[in-house]
Amino acid sequence: MDEVLRNLIALQGVDSEINQINLKKKTLPEELRKLDNEFASLRADVEKSRALLEETIKKHRELEEKLKKAGEALKKAKEKLLEVKTNKEYQAGLMEIEAMEKKNEEYEEAIILILDEIDGQKKTLKDKEEQLKIEGTKYEIRKKELMDELEALDEKLSSCLERKKELSSSLAPEIMKKYEQIRAINHGLAVVPAWREVCSGCHMNIPPQLYNELYAGDKLIYCPECHRILYWFDQSKDNV
Ligand SMILES: [Zn+2]
Repeated sequence: MDEVLRNLIALQGVDSEINQINLKKKTLPEELRKLDNEFASLRADVEKSRALLEETIKKHRELEEKLKKAGEALKKAKEKLLEVKTNKEYQAGLMEIEAMEKKNEEYEEAIILILDEIDGQKKTLKDKEEQLKIEGTKYEIRKKELMDELEALDEKLSSCLERKKELSSSLAPEIMKKYEQIRAINHGLAVVPAWREVCSGCHMNIPPQLYNELYAGDKLIYCPECHRILYWFDQSKDNV
């Protein structure tokens, strides 16, 4: 194969790799952000459950405090009842005690319910914390992978650019100019293989005479449709 063509094929390979690297330089930080956001929302959910549990524990303490005070008040009311002089005062005292006892029962029932609630919330929190731990490990591993990949891109890119410089300088300026022009109008792809009389860039047929010249590989052939530089490549071997 003609050396110019060989260099052009290599240059196209390097340029395609540069495109891939630049694309990854854009998508990897996005992927990292998404990963961070997902983990942050998981952590926020655990914090929410923890806050809810603390709130319920606080309510339980308040209820216990109310029950304690109500118990003391009841005790005092019962003592007071022993000192009353009249039947009317006694009846009033009894009613007061009855109301207080009812209130005490209500507090006790509320405490039983809230203790159940605390148990449920503790279990939920524990499950979520365990899940967070598992996800946290996965998150750290994936984050490191992405960071390493991102870091390696700069090194890859500079070696690609170095290689592009070498290849560019080995090609005549007018060929380089043409190559860049074709690349600019063809989404970065200027050199494409052809096989069985079809251009792999635009998938159009190549006239037989041109295809024969292409097979010889001793001069630059352009696709009559998309104007890309063509080279003959046996794709049947590639697919075996
Ligand atoms: Zn074409």
